[in-house]
Amino acid sequence: MPKMTRAKARQIFERLAEASPEPKTELYYKNPFTLTVAVALSAQATDEGVNKATKTLFEVADTPEKMAALGEKKLGDYIKTIGLWRNKAKNVIALSQKLIDDFGGEVPQSREELESLPGVGRKTANVVMNVAFGQPTIAVDTHIFRVGNRTGLAPGKNPLEVELGLEKIVPEDFIQHAHHWLILHGRYICKARKPECWRCPIVDLCGFKDKVMSPDSPKKNGAKPAKKTTKKAAKKKLAAKPKLRASKKTATSK
Ligand code: SF4
Repeated sequence: MPKMTRAKARQIFERLAEASPEPKTELYYKNPFTLTVAVALSAQATDEGVNKATKTLFEVADTPEKMAALGEKKLGDYIKTIGLWRNKAKNVIALSQKLIDDFGGEVPQSREELESLPGVGRKTANVVMNVAFGQPTIAVDTHIFRVGNRTGLAPGKNPLEVELGLEKIVPEDFIQHAHHWLILHGRYICKARKPECWRCPIVDLCGFKDKVMSPDSPKKNGAKPAKKTTKKAAKKKLAAKPKLRASKKTATSK
């Protein structure tokens, strides 16, 4: 992979910024507390799925006090559609209680304090520090991890390596919004299964060697192409059905 230079990185962010001048998180939130809850709920879930649940949840519980009063069971009813909801409900109630007990009901601004909250890891802390408090942090999620590696901007074996690599290479004047640009780029263009390199604004700067240059190209990044059902295979499938039914009948008649 060709070496990523600072000049190239600047060009990459200039172009991503041009495509989306004011990038924002796609998670729905009302204040630093609801942002913290939304990000904690979004682990291994889509923003869209989280927003569906939090739209009504945050109407009734948008402060730590209201959330703690709601309790784990009722909170569970609001977030049942989100993966790992039982554990997340437990953490959200515990983090609300800790905010009340230790932080006067306010979300703290330092990494150390944020990471002391139940269910809040480095990524969640980075998002809250950046989005709620305007700090120049880069929260590495699955999209940023992929884009950082593919482009050569910040290759790394784990999210922390990518985060530290990005902190070094992203020009200072772009760092505040860098993670939003990279998430949007990964979510809509540099997709996991089939990156849409043919319409990518940084195609000439990207170091990925298996670029997909047409919507009709076979997948080149390790993902298996979908199996086509040939006429012969479809016939074989149809022919197999009566056999299955027959054997079931035989089995029950025994
Ligand atoms: S050229 Fe392809 S692999 Fe590189 S950033 Fe663009 S979409 Fe991703």
